[in-house]
Amino acid sequence: MGKQKQCEQCLQYADKFGRKYRGKRYCMDCYLYFFVKRACSHCGELKRIHRDEKKPLCYRCYSAITPCVRCHRVGRPVGRIESFGLLCNSCANVVLKPYRKCSMCGKSSRLSIDKKNGTNKPICQSCRYKMYAKCPQCGIKAALYKTSDGRDLCYRCVNGIHYYCSKCGAETYRSNKTLCQRCQACNRNDKRTIFNAELLGNSDIRAMFVDYVAWLTVNVGPAKAASVQNSYFDFFEALQTAPDDWERNVEFLTGLDGGHFRKSSLLKRYLDSLGINCDPSTLKAAMDLRTIHKNISTVLTLCPLGHQFIITEFFNERIAGYKKHRIKLQTIRVESSSIKRLYEHWAQSNDLNTAIRQLAAETPGTRCSLTKYINFATPTIQLTWPSVEASTEYRLAYLTNKYRYGGLTNAELQDYVKCFLFHFYGVSVTTGAFSIASSNSDITALFNHQKLWIAKP
Ligand SMILES: [Zn+2]
Ligand SMILES: [Zn+2]
Ligand SMILES: [Zn+2]
Ligand SMILES: [Zn+2]
Ligand SMILES: [Zn+2]
Ligand SMILES: [Zn+2]
Repeated sequence: MGKQKQCEQCLQYADKFGRKYRGKRYCMDCYLYFFVKRACSHCGELKRIHRDEKKPLCYRCYSAITPCVRCHRVGRPVGRIESFGLLCNSCANVVLKPYRKCSMCGKSSRLSIDKKNGTNKPICQSCRYKMYAKCPQCGIKAALYKTSDGRDLCYRCVNGIHYYCSKCGAETYRSNKTLCQRCQACNRNDKRTIFNAELLGNSDIRAMFVDYVAWLTVNVGPAKAASVQNSYFDFFEALQTAPDDWERNVEFLTGLDGGHFRKSSLLKRYLDSLGINCDPSTLKAAMDLRTIHKNISTVLTLCPLGHQFIITEFFNERIAGYKKHRIKLQTIRVESSSIKRLYEHWAQSNDLNTAIRQLAAETPGTRCSLTKYINFATPTIQLTWPSVEASTEYRLAYLTNKYRYGGLTNAELQDYVKCFLFHFYGVSVTTGAFSIASSNSDITALFNHQKLWIAKP
Protein backbone atom coordinates (compact mmCIF):
# COMPACT_ATOMS: atom_id res chain seq x y z
CA MET A 1 0.00 0.00 0.00
CA GLY A 2 2.88 2.37 0.78
CA LYS A 3 3.89 2.80 -2.85
CA GLN A 4 0.37 3.56 -4.01
CA LYS A 5 -0.46 7.01 -5.27
CA GLN A 6 -3.76 8.74 -5.75
CA CYS A 7 -5.27 9.07 -9.22
CA GLU A 8 -5.98 12.75 -9.67
CA GLN A 9 -9.03 12.03 -11.81
CA CYS A 10 -11.01 9.47 -9.76
CA LEU A 11 -9.12 10.00 -6.47
CA GLN A 12 -8.70 6.20 -5.98
CA TYR A 13 -5.32 4.80 -4.94
CA ALA A 14 -3.49 2.77 -7.55
CA ASP A 15 0.01 1.55 -8.28
CA LYS A 16 -0.18 1.63 -12.05
CA PHE A 17 -0.75 4.82 -13.95
CA GLY A 18 -1.56 5.30 -17.60
CA ARG A 19 -0.37 8.82 -18.15
CA LYS A 20 0.29 12.18 -16.62
CA TYR A 21 -1.65 14.68 -18.67
CA ARG A 22 -1.80 18.45 -18.12
CA GLY A 23 -0.38 18.06 -14.65
CA LYS A 24 -2.85 15.32 -13.67
CA ARG A 25 -2.06 11.66 -12.96
CA TYR A 26 -4.52 9.15 -14.49
CA CYS A 27 -4.86 5.60 -13.15
CA MET A 28 -5.09 2.83 -15.75
CA ASP A 29 -8.89 2.66 -15.57
CA CYS A 30 -9.26 6.39 -16.00
CA TYR A 31 -6.62 6.41 -18.72
CA LEU A 32 -8.42 3.80 -20.77
CA TYR A 33 -11.71 5.60 -20.30
CA PHE A 34 -10.58 9.20 -20.96
CA PHE A 35 -7.97 8.51 -23.60
CA VAL A 36 -9.79 7.07 -26.56
CA LYS A 37 -8.26 6.10 -29.85
CA ARG A 38 -8.38 9.11 -32.14
CA ALA A 39 -6.53 10.20 -35.22
CA CYS A 40 -3.75 12.66 -34.37
CA SER A 41 -4.36 15.88 -36.28
CA HIS A 42 -0.64 16.21 -36.96
CA CYS A 43 0.72 12.77 -37.89
CA GLY A 44 -2.62 11.15 -38.68
CA GLU A 45 -1.89 8.03 -36.64
CA LEU A 46 -4.49 6.46 -34.39
CA LYS A 47 -3.37 7.13 -30.83
CA ARG A 48 -4.88 7.39 -27.37
CA ILE A 49 -5.80 11.05 -27.03
CA HIS A 50 -7.93 12.73 -24.35
CA ARG A 51 -11.57 12.71 -25.41
CA ASP A 52 -12.04 16.43 -24.60
CA GLU A 53 -9.08 17.56 -26.69
CA LYS A 54 -10.52 19.82 -29.42
CA LYS A 55 -7.45 19.56 -31.61
CA PRO A 56 -6.35 15.94 -31.11
CA LEU A 57 -2.59 15.51 -30.93
CA CYS A 58 -0.73 12.40 -29.93
CA TYR A 59 1.80 12.71 -27.13
CA ARG A 60 4.75 12.66 -29.51
CA CYS A 61 3.36 15.36 -31.81
CA TYR A 62 2.16 17.50 -28.90
CA SER A 63 5.68 17.52 -27.48
CA ALA A 64 7.21 18.17 -30.87
CA ILE A 65 5.14 21.18 -31.97
CA THR A 66 4.05 22.90 -28.74
CA PRO A 67 6.33 25.73 -27.64
CA CYS A 68 7.58 25.76 -24.07
CA VAL A 69 5.44 28.23 -22.10
CA ARG A 70 8.51 29.80 -20.56
CA CYS A 71 11.18 29.99 -23.25
CA HIS A 72 8.93 29.53 -26.30
CA ARG A 73 11.33 27.08 -27.86
CA VAL A 74 9.77 24.30 -29.89
CA GLY A 75 10.84 20.68 -30.11
CA ARG A 76 12.92 20.63 -26.95
CA PRO A 77 12.86 17.52 -24.75
CA VAL A 78 9.76 17.67 -22.57
CA GLY A 79 10.35 18.41 -18.91
CA ARG A 80 6.83 18.61 -17.57
CA ILE A 81 3.33 19.13 -18.88
CA GLU A 82 1.22 21.23 -16.56
CA SER A 83 -2.35 22.44 -16.68
CA PHE A 84 -1.01 25.72 -18.07
CA GLY A 85 1.09 24.09 -20.79
CA LEU A 86 4.35 22.41 -21.68
CA LEU A 87 7.69 23.13 -20.04
CA CYS A 88 10.88 22.04 -21.77
CA ASN A 89 13.46 20.23 -19.68
CA SER A 90 15.56 23.35 -19.12
CA CYS A 91 12.58 25.35 -17.87
CA ALA A 92 10.80 22.59 -15.94
CA ASN A 93 12.74 23.07 -12.73
CA VAL A 94 12.64 26.88 -12.59
CA VAL A 95 8.93 27.53 -13.12
CA LEU A 96 6.99 27.95 -9.92
CA LYS A 97 3.29 27.50 -9.49
CA PRO A 98 1.51 29.90 -11.80
CA TYR A 99 -0.09 33.19 -10.84
CA ARG A 100 1.62 34.64 -7.88
CA LYS A 101 2.84 38.19 -7.50
CA CYS A 102 6.03 38.97 -9.41
CA SER A 103 8.66 40.14 -6.94
CA MET A 104 9.86 42.73 -9.44
CA CYS A 105 6.71 44.39 -10.86
CA GLY A 106 4.06 43.06 -8.48
CA LYS A 107 1.72 41.82 -11.21
CA SER A 108 0.11 38.42 -10.84
CA SER A 109 1.64 36.13 -13.39
CA ARG A 110 3.42 32.85 -14.03
CA LEU A 111 6.75 33.22 -12.30
CA SER A 112 10.14 31.64 -12.62
CA ILE A 113 13.57 32.04 -11.15
CA ASP A 114 16.14 33.12 -13.69
CA LYS A 115 19.53 32.07 -12.39
CA LYS A 116 21.11 32.79 -15.78
CA ASN A 117 20.52 36.49 -15.28
CA GLY A 118 21.65 36.37 -11.70
CA THR A 119 18.27 36.69 -9.97
CA ASN A 120 17.16 34.23 -7.36
CA LYS A 121 13.72 35.76 -6.81
CA PRO A 122 10.67 34.59 -8.75
CA ILE A 123 9.83 37.07 -11.51
CA CYS A 124 7.33 37.22 -14.36
CA GLN A 125 7.99 36.62 -18.03
CA SER A 126 7.92 40.26 -19.09
CA CYS A 127 10.34 41.28 -16.34
CA ARG A 128 12.57 38.42 -17.39
CA TYR A 129 12.56 39.52 -21.04
CA LYS A 130 13.48 43.06 -20.03
CA MET A 131 16.62 41.77 -18.33
CA TYR A 132 17.87 39.89 -21.37
CA ALA A 133 20.62 41.22 -23.56
CA LYS A 134 19.92 41.89 -27.24
CA CYS A 135 20.75 39.12 -29.65
CA PRO A 136 23.68 40.50 -31.71
CA GLN A 137 22.23 39.09 -34.92
CA CYS A 138 18.53 40.03 -34.86
CA GLY A 139 18.57 42.71 -32.15
CA ILE A 140 15.71 41.16 -30.15
CA LYS A 141 16.03 40.82 -26.39
CA ALA A 142 16.13 37.12 -25.62
CA ALA A 143 17.96 34.43 -23.73
CA LEU A 144 21.21 33.82 -25.61
CA TYR A 145 22.79 30.45 -26.37
CA LYS A 146 26.37 29.64 -27.33
CA THR A 147 26.84 28.60 -30.93
CA SER A 148 29.52 26.19 -32.17
CA ASP A 149 31.63 29.14 -33.37
CA GLY A 150 31.50 30.77 -29.94
CA ARG A 151 28.92 33.49 -30.56
CA ASP A 152 25.96 34.16 -28.26
CA LEU A 153 22.74 34.20 -30.27
CA CYS A 154 19.06 33.89 -29.51
CA TYR A 155 17.29 30.61 -30.04
CA ARG A 156 15.85 31.69 -33.38
CA CYS A 157 19.17 32.81 -34.80
CA VAL A 158 20.99 29.73 -33.51
CA ASN A 159 18.50 27.46 -35.23
CA GLY A 160 17.70 29.64 -38.24
CA ILE A 161 14.04 29.87 -37.26
CA HIS A 162 11.94 32.60 -38.82
CA TYR A 163 8.35 33.60 -38.14
CA TYR A 164 6.31 35.51 -40.67
CA CYS A 165 3.26 37.71 -40.32
CA SER A 166 0.26 35.79 -41.59
CA LYS A 167 -1.14 38.93 -43.19
CA CYS A 168 1.73 40.81 -44.84
CA GLY A 169 4.49 38.23 -44.73
CA ALA A 170 6.96 40.47 -42.89
CA GLU A 171 9.18 38.73 -40.37
CA THR A 172 7.90 38.74 -36.78
CA TYR A 173 9.75 37.76 -33.68
CA ARG A 174 7.38 35.96 -31.38
CA SER A 175 6.09 32.56 -32.30
CA ASN A 176 2.85 33.15 -30.41
CA LYS A 177 1.98 36.25 -32.41
CA THR A 178 0.90 35.52 -35.94
CA LEU A 179 0.57 39.17 -36.97
CA CYS A 180 3.43 41.64 -37.14
CA GLN A 181 3.17 44.79 -35.04
CA ARG A 182 2.19 46.92 -38.01
CA CYS A 183 -0.62 44.55 -39.04
CA GLN A 184 -1.85 44.43 -35.43
CA ALA A 185 -1.93 48.23 -35.38
CA CYS A 186 -3.79 48.27 -38.73
CA ASN A 187 -6.41 45.91 -37.31
CA ARG A 188 -6.80 48.02 -34.20
CA ASN A 189 -7.04 51.20 -36.26
CA ASP A 190 -9.63 49.71 -38.65
CA LYS A 191 -11.78 48.36 -35.83
CA ARG A 192 -11.75 51.70 -34.05
CA THR A 193 -12.58 53.56 -37.25
CA ILE A 194 -15.60 51.35 -37.92
CA PHE A 195 -16.76 51.71 -34.32
CA ASN A 196 -16.40 55.50 -34.36
CA ALA A 197 -17.85 55.96 -37.83
CA GLU A 198 -21.00 54.13 -36.80
CA LEU A 199 -21.57 56.70 -34.08
CA LEU A 200 -21.87 59.41 -36.72
CA GLY A 201 -25.40 59.57 -38.11
CA ASN A 202 -24.64 62.09 -40.85
CA SER A 203 -23.24 60.19 -43.83
CA ASP A 204 -21.20 63.15 -45.16
CA ILE A 205 -19.52 63.66 -41.81
CA ARG A 206 -19.02 59.91 -41.46
CA ALA A 207 -17.25 59.85 -44.83
CA MET A 208 -15.15 62.82 -43.77
CA PHE A 209 -14.15 61.05 -40.55
CA VAL A 210 -13.13 57.91 -42.45
CA ASP A 211 -11.16 60.10 -44.84
CA TYR A 212 -9.53 61.82 -41.89
CA VAL A 213 -8.39 58.51 -40.36
CA ALA A 214 -7.06 57.43 -43.76
CA TRP A 215 -5.08 60.68 -43.91
CA LEU A 216 -3.82 60.06 -40.36
CA THR A 217 -2.77 56.51 -41.20
CA VAL A 218 -0.72 57.72 -44.16
CA ASN A 219 0.86 60.58 -42.23
CA VAL A 220 1.55 59.13 -38.80
CA GLY A 221 1.19 55.37 -39.31
CA PRO A 222 -1.51 52.95 -38.16
CA ALA A 223 -0.35 52.68 -34.53
CA LYS A 224 -0.50 56.42 -33.87
CA ALA A 225 -3.66 56.79 -35.96
CA ALA A 226 -5.35 54.17 -33.78
CA SER A 227 -4.35 55.94 -30.60
CA VAL A 228 -5.18 59.53 -31.64
CA GLN A 229 -8.30 59.19 -33.78
CA ASN A 230 -10.55 59.31 -30.73
CA SER A 231 -9.08 62.51 -29.38
CA TYR A 232 -10.52 64.50 -32.30
CA PHE A 233 -13.77 62.58 -32.56
CA ASP A 234 -15.78 65.27 -30.72
CA PHE A 235 -14.98 67.64 -33.58
CA PHE A 236 -16.69 65.39 -36.13
CA GLU A 237 -19.59 64.82 -33.76
CA ALA A 238 -20.06 68.58 -33.39
CA LEU A 239 -19.73 69.09 -37.13
CA GLN A 240 -22.98 67.20 -37.65
CA THR A 241 -24.97 70.08 -36.23
CA ALA A 242 -22.59 72.86 -37.23
CA PRO A 243 -23.66 75.93 -39.21
CA ASP A 244 -22.50 75.96 -42.85
CA ASP A 245 -19.91 78.64 -42.22
CA TRP A 246 -18.64 76.97 -39.06
CA GLU A 247 -15.03 77.94 -39.69
CA ARG A 248 -16.06 81.60 -39.32
CA ASN A 249 -18.57 81.01 -36.52
CA VAL A 250 -17.16 82.07 -33.16
CA GLU A 251 -20.00 80.51 -31.10
CA PHE A 252 -19.54 77.13 -32.77
CA LEU A 253 -15.75 77.18 -32.37
CA THR A 254 -16.15 78.19 -28.73
CA GLY A 255 -17.84 74.87 -28.04
CA LEU A 256 -14.81 72.94 -29.31
CA ASP A 257 -11.51 72.12 -27.67
CA GLY A 258 -9.13 75.00 -28.43
CA GLY A 259 -6.26 72.53 -28.80
CA HIS A 260 -7.83 71.13 -31.98
CA PHE A 261 -6.76 74.23 -33.89
CA ARG A 262 -3.23 74.65 -32.63
CA LYS A 263 -0.51 74.58 -35.26
CA SER A 264 0.75 71.22 -34.04
CA SER A 265 -2.70 69.61 -34.06
CA LEU A 266 -3.12 66.75 -36.51
CA LEU A 267 -6.73 67.76 -37.08
CA LYS A 268 -5.61 71.25 -38.08
CA ARG A 269 -3.07 69.78 -40.49
CA TYR A 270 -5.80 67.62 -41.99
CA LEU A 271 -8.18 70.57 -42.37
CA ASP A 272 -5.36 72.59 -43.92
CA SER A 273 -4.85 69.81 -46.44
CA LEU A 274 -8.53 70.22 -47.41
CA GLY A 275 -8.14 73.98 -47.67
CA ILE A 276 -10.37 74.58 -44.64
CA ASN A 277 -8.84 77.35 -42.57
CA CYS A 278 -9.99 79.19 -39.51
CA ASP A 279 -8.98 82.82 -39.34
CA PRO A 280 -6.58 83.45 -36.41
CA SER A 281 -8.76 86.34 -35.20
CA THR A 282 -11.82 84.04 -35.20
CA LEU A 283 -9.89 81.44 -33.19
CA LYS A 284 -8.72 84.14 -30.79
CA ALA A 285 -12.30 85.33 -30.33
CA ALA A 286 -13.43 81.74 -29.69
CA MET A 287 -10.68 81.38 -27.12
CA ASP A 288 -11.78 84.60 -25.40
CA LEU A 289 -15.41 83.50 -25.39
CA ARG A 290 -14.42 80.11 -23.97
CA THR A 291 -12.56 81.85 -21.12
CA ILE A 292 -15.52 84.17 -20.54
CA HIS A 293 -17.92 81.21 -20.27
CA LYS A 294 -15.56 79.46 -17.88
CA ASN A 295 -15.18 82.57 -15.73
CA ILE A 296 -18.94 83.19 -15.65
CA SER A 297 -19.64 79.66 -14.50
CA THR A 298 -16.99 79.95 -11.77
CA VAL A 299 -18.45 83.29 -10.67
CA LEU A 300 -21.99 81.87 -10.57
CA THR A 301 -20.92 79.03 -8.29
CA LEU A 302 -18.93 81.35 -6.00
CA CYS A 303 -21.21 84.37 -5.67
CA PRO A 304 -23.97 84.92 -3.11
CA LEU A 305 -27.43 83.82 -4.28
CA GLY A 306 -28.80 87.32 -4.87
CA HIS A 307 -25.98 88.18 -7.27
CA GLN A 308 -26.52 85.48 -9.89
CA PHE A 309 -29.29 87.32 -11.68
CA ILE A 310 -27.30 90.53 -11.94
CA ILE A 311 -24.16 88.76 -13.11
CA THR A 312 -26.09 86.90 -15.81
CA GLU A 313 -27.82 90.10 -16.93
CA PHE A 314 -24.53 91.97 -17.00
CA PHE A 315 -22.81 89.44 -19.24
CA ASN A 316 -25.85 89.07 -21.50
CA GLU A 317 -25.69 92.79 -22.08
CA ARG A 318 -21.94 92.76 -22.68
CA ILE A 319 -22.13 89.84 -25.13
CA ALA A 320 -24.99 91.59 -26.93
CA GLY A 321 -22.70 94.61 -27.20
CA TYR A 322 -20.02 92.38 -28.70
CA LYS A 323 -22.47 91.03 -31.26
CA LYS A 324 -23.28 94.59 -32.29
CA HIS A 325 -19.52 95.19 -32.66
CA ARG A 326 -19.55 97.75 -29.86
CA ILE A 327 -17.36 95.86 -27.41
CA LYS A 328 -14.35 93.65 -28.01
CA LEU A 329 -14.48 90.12 -26.60
CA GLN A 330 -11.07 90.69 -25.11
CA THR A 331 -12.51 93.51 -22.98
CA ILE A 332 -15.29 91.26 -21.72
CA ARG A 333 -12.73 88.54 -21.01
CA VAL A 334 -10.68 90.89 -18.83
CA GLU A 335 -13.86 92.04 -17.06
CA SER A 336 -14.91 88.45 -16.40
CA SER A 337 -11.50 87.66 -14.91
CA SER A 338 -11.72 90.66 -12.57
CA ILE A 339 -15.26 89.77 -11.51
CA LYS A 340 -14.09 86.23 -10.87
CA ARG A 341 -11.29 87.57 -8.70
CA LEU A 342 -13.75 89.75 -6.78
CA TYR A 343 -15.98 86.78 -5.95
CA GLU A 344 -13.02 84.60 -5.09
CA HIS A 345 -12.18 87.14 -2.41
CA TRP A 346 -15.83 87.27 -1.40
CA ALA A 347 -15.88 83.49 -0.96
CA GLN A 348 -13.05 83.79 1.56
CA SER A 349 -14.47 86.57 3.73
CA ASN A 350 -18.21 86.52 2.92
CA ASP A 351 -18.04 90.28 2.93
CA LEU A 352 -18.09 92.37 -0.22
CA ASN A 353 -16.35 95.39 1.30
CA THR A 354 -13.50 93.24 2.55
CA ALA A 355 -13.29 91.57 -0.85
CA ILE A 356 -13.07 94.85 -2.72
CA ARG A 357 -10.55 96.25 -0.24
CA GLN A 358 -8.39 93.18 -0.83
CA LEU A 359 -8.66 93.69 -4.57
CA ALA A 360 -7.58 97.33 -4.20
CA ALA A 361 -4.61 96.20 -2.14
CA GLU A 362 -3.51 93.17 -4.16
CA THR A 363 -4.50 93.94 -7.73
CA PRO A 364 -5.25 97.66 -8.00
CA GLY A 365 -5.26 97.22 -11.78
CA THR A 366 -8.62 95.41 -11.65
CA ARG A 367 -10.34 98.67 -10.76
CA CYS A 368 -10.66 99.76 -14.34
CA SER A 369 -12.16 96.49 -15.56
CA LEU A 370 -14.62 96.37 -12.66
CA THR A 371 -16.06 99.85 -13.20
CA LYS A 372 -18.67 98.69 -15.74
CA TYR A 373 -19.85 95.91 -13.47
CA ILE A 374 -19.95 98.09 -10.35
CA ASN A 375 -22.03 100.70 -12.18
CA PHE A 376 -24.33 98.00 -13.54
CA ALA A 377 -24.85 96.31 -10.18
CA THR A 378 -25.48 99.53 -8.23
CA PRO A 379 -27.81 100.12 -6.46
CA THR A 380 -28.98 96.48 -6.21
CA ILE A 381 -25.59 95.52 -4.84
CA GLN A 382 -23.67 97.89 -2.61
CA LEU A 383 -20.27 97.98 -4.25
CA THR A 384 -17.89 100.92 -4.19
CA TRP A 385 -14.26 100.98 -5.09
CA PRO A 386 -12.37 102.67 -2.23
CA SER A 387 -11.22 106.28 -2.63
CA VAL A 388 -7.72 106.95 -3.95
CA GLU A 389 -6.52 107.73 -0.42
CA ALA A 390 -7.99 104.57 1.05
CA SER A 391 -6.77 102.40 -1.85
CA THR A 392 -3.27 103.77 -1.44
CA GLU A 393 -3.33 102.94 2.24
CA TYR A 394 -4.52 99.36 1.62
CA ARG A 395 -1.91 98.93 -1.06
CA LEU A 396 0.87 100.22 1.20
CA ALA A 397 -0.17 97.88 4.00
CA TYR A 398 -0.35 94.96 1.59
CA LEU A 399 3.07 95.64 0.05
CA THR A 400 4.68 96.15 3.46
CA ASN A 401 3.34 92.82 4.57
CA LYS A 402 4.41 91.13 1.37
CA TYR A 403 7.91 92.62 1.69
CA ARG A 404 8.28 91.07 5.13
CA TYR A 405 6.94 87.66 4.25
CA GLY A 406 8.30 87.05 0.78
CA GLY A 407 9.86 90.12 -0.75
CA LEU A 408 8.78 92.44 -3.55
CA THR A 409 9.45 92.34 -7.25
CA ASN A 410 11.08 95.39 -8.75
CA ALA A 411 7.75 96.62 -10.10
CA GLU A 412 6.14 96.18 -6.69
CA LEU A 413 8.94 98.15 -5.04
CA GLN A 414 8.36 100.97 -7.54
CA ASP A 415 4.68 100.85 -6.69
CA TYR A 416 5.47 100.92 -2.97
CA VAL A 417 7.55 104.08 -3.38
CA LYS A 418 4.82 105.64 -5.50
CA CYS A 419 2.17 104.90 -2.86
CA PHE A 420 4.48 106.13 -0.09
CA LEU A 421 5.07 109.43 -1.91
CA PHE A 422 1.34 109.91 -2.36
CA HIS A 423 0.36 108.88 1.15
CA PHE A 424 3.01 110.69 3.16
CA TYR A 425 4.07 113.58 0.93
CA GLY A 426 0.88 114.12 -1.03
CA VAL A 427 2.93 113.85 -4.21
CA SER A 428 1.45 111.94 -7.11
CA VAL A 429 3.96 110.76 -9.67
CA THR A 430 3.75 108.29 -12.49
CA THR A 431 5.86 105.16 -12.32
CA GLY A 432 9.15 105.74 -14.08
CA ALA A 433 9.21 109.48 -13.29
CA PHE A 434 11.39 108.85 -10.24
CA SER A 435 14.42 106.74 -9.42
CA ILE A 436 15.16 104.83 -6.25
CA ALA A 437 18.36 104.63 -4.22
CA SER A 438 18.31 102.01 -1.52
CA SER A 439 20.59 101.59 1.52
CA ASN A 440 20.46 99.17 4.43
CA SER A 441 18.15 101.27 6.55
CA ASP A 442 16.10 103.34 4.14
CA ILE A 443 15.16 104.25 0.58
CA THR A 444 15.56 107.56 -1.17
CA ALA A 445 13.33 108.57 -4.03
CA LEU A 446 14.80 111.02 -6.53
CA PHE A 447 12.63 113.08 -8.80
CA ASN A 448 12.61 116.64 -10.06
CA HIS A 449 16.06 117.08 -8.43
CA GLN A 450 14.39 116.38 -5.08
CA LYS A 451 15.50 113.72 -2.63
CA LEU A 452 12.70 112.23 -0.55
CA TRP A 453 13.13 109.77 2.30
CA ILE A 454 11.07 106.60 2.09
CA ALA A 455 10.71 104.18 5.02
CA LYS A 456 11.82 100.63 4.33
CA PRO A 457 8.70 98.52 4.23
ZN1 LIG B 1 -8.46 7.10 -11.91
ZN1 LIG C 1 0.78 12.65 -33.78
ZN1 LIG D 1 11.62 26.04 -22.01
ZN1 LIG E 1 7.22 41.16 -13.34
ZN1 LIG F 1 18.53 36.51 -32.78
ZN1 LIG G 1 2.10 42.04 -41.04
